[in-house]
Amino acid sequence: MLIAGNWKMFKGPAEAREFCVALREADLPDDVDVVVCPPYVSLGVAVQVLAGTEIGVFAQNCHWADEGAFTGEVSAPMLRELGVYGTLVGHSERRQLFGETDERVAQRTRAALAAGLQVIACVGETESEREAGETASVLRRQISVLEADDNLVIAYEPVWAIGTGKTATPEIAREAHETIKELLDLPVLYGGSVKPENAAELLAHAAVDGALVGGASLELDPFAAICRASRS
Ligand code: PEP
Repeated sequence: MLIAGNWKMFKGPAEAREFCVALREADLPDDVDVVVCPPYVSLGVAVQVLAGTEIGVFAQNCHWADEGAFTGEVSAPMLRELGVYGTLVGHSERRQLFGETDERVAQRTRAALAAGLQVIACVGETESEREAGETASVLRRQISVLEADDNLVIAYEPVWAIGTGKTATPEIAREAHETIKELLDLPVLYGGSVKPENAAELLAHAAVDGALVGGASLELDPFAAICRASRS
């Protein structure tokens, strides 16, 4: 079971330090892999504070080239040098707000894996795609550019459930996870308004291997509660 907290564009270095100090001391289950994904500027402090713990530090994105004239970007080898353990790629906010394509997601994934990072690649349909009955074909298209790898995990995040308070039913999550697993035999996390109150139910099915948590990962108590709920 893997629980990853995506901090999005929240928590600069001072707040990240404070959170990670508290997380280090928190009551987290031993058999759950816990990951935090701070913004770039807070990765260094998170790596320092969480050094020697089992808690992994992931970036939220990485560029596909090792280095070059790509102003504003950060490469996978640079993240490795900083002590970062992995990265998200293809988050729906990247796809929707920053024009991320499936091919770019694939390039980022390949580069991150080649640099030795773990990758959580995000996929998921929009509300209109779901209403049009296109969920399976969207997932097939998004997954088709990826290749199985021991260090790759998929996060199924229905776009209509991200930051909206609308959560997929366990049945919707199970169906999507099974579709993904038929295409790529990899662990699949669920993401989309996971909270302490719904985590146990969402994570109960064998096809759900963990959660990618946004809003509820920004405060220690709900995040730790989700980590604990994930094993019940
Ligand atoms: C996310 O950002 O990946 C996410 C799932 O957000 P939230 O939990 O806030 O819906």
